[in-house]
Amino acid sequence: MALRVSDWLTVMRIDFFTLSPHLFTSPLESAIFQRAQDKGLANFRVNNIRDYTHDKHHITDDYPYGGGAGMVLKPEPIFEAVEAVLAGPVVPERQAIVLMTPQGRPFTQETAGRLARYDWLLFICGHYEGVDERVRTHLATEEISLGDYVLSGGELPALAVADAVIRLIPGVLGSAESTQEESHAAGLLEYPQYTRPPEYRGLTVPEVLLSGHHGEVAKWRRKESLRRTLIRRPELIETADLSAGDQRLINDLMAEGLVERDGLSQ
Ligand code: SAH
Repeated sequence: MALRVSDWLTVMRIDFFTLSPHLFTSPLESAIFQRAQDKGLANFRVNNIRDYTHDKHHITDDYPYGGGAGMVLKPEPIFEAVEAVLAGPVVPERQAIVLMTPQGRPFTQETAGRLARYDWLLFICGHYEGVDERVRTHLATEEISLGDYVLSGGELPALAVADAVIRLIPGVLGSAESTQEESHAAGLLEYPQYTRPPEYRGLTVPEVLLSGHHGEVAKWRRKESLRRTLIRRPELIETADLSAGDQRLINDLMAEGLVERDGLSQ
């Protein structure tokens, strides 16, 4: 019998803890999530925090001590939900309990790569004013922010993080290159991409890409990747892994003047 990928690779499990399970329905049935699941490379479960309340009204939030606006998610149902699903102590190198919070470490491609090495990720999604501090200090193993802005819930950020992570699981995407060359994978932004037609409304595709000359195409792409990064995110160049050839391309770019091609016939 043919060996399936899932027979020798660990299947990643991802659990979301939320008060709004319906927010996950369509994303988890689509695109990358469905693909990972169909290939037997990942499993997703959405857990309703409300199911772990014990009172008649299934209360999950309460007023903040000390007063102030908004409601805070109570610790008990969140602790109980996560503990029931884990059904045992956390194994730190295999499992991460991630609290989604604007106060966490800003999410990056590097973090996605690190999370992709766990077997099991559990995402706690807050709501309202946030979650009781004890969830952060005594349940979560890490805190992640999607960026320096405040959203109304942790569901969209958790889905964004899960998307970035599962597309890095070997076998989820079609070819390995598609994650190696793209923006941020090697610390640079990706080069501009074109497809047919070669001319649209007078806007042409760079000649070299039509040439079929692989060496020239690769050199053009590297140069444009460096150009883009230098113009848009110069701070990334400082930490990128650059070769002597890259340095020469950077010198050329500097000599030519750093401008992005505007897409018009030139
Ligand atoms: N009062 C809190 C914000 C609460 S926002 C504060 O000032 O820090 C409500 C919930 O949305 C949070 O508990 C978190 O789960 C989620 N959330 C909001 N913005 C987020 C962000 N930038 N990254 C990750 N999660 C976020």
